[in-house]
Amino acid sequence: MSFANGMSCPVCGKGYIQRHLKREEFEYKGQAKIIDDYPLLICDACEEEFVSAEDSRLFDKELTAFQRKVDGLLTPDEIRSIREKLGYNQTSFARLLKVGEKNFARYETGVSPQSRYLDWLMRILNDYPETIKTITGNRDSNPDKNISVQYPNNLSDGFWFFRKSQI
Ligand SMILES: [Zn+2]
Repeated sequence: MSFANGMSCPVCGKGYIQRHLKREEFEYKGQAKIIDDYPLLICDACEEEFVSAEDSRLFDKELTAFQRKVDGLLTPDEIRSIREKLGYNQTSFARLLKVGEKNFARYETGVSPQSRYLDWLMRILNDYPETIKTITGNRDSNPDKNISVQYPNNLSDGFWFFRKSQI
């Protein structure tokens, strides 16, 4: 059910729900996060409180950041800097980590938190970049790294290309 300012109250049916900004406390694993001006829709008759989907989305990043902090996960900035340090763009890094491209973009924009295992994996790759080979089976799976193509002088020998190994 979606709620909107001015709607009649779905609980009592007598009052109307109005948008108010209120101090709201969120709890995650025993830790509290306070948002001073959280938008609530409050019934003017029974005082029941509702949150519109649109309003709750405004605080997705802030609450996800809180959740990451409690869980001790890498921040979006840390994820981006690990990816850049290893020389990947979002698409190729998502492919390496075997996660959807859109999901990975959400970790970097802070919309949703990465799993604990993915967090560990990124930390390991950051500390020991040579372990990328363990995932890729010793091949350089990053198409965005410098690729140099070499053709032999005599094309009848066939041609080949090689990728500079950066890892
Ligand atoms: Zn009501």
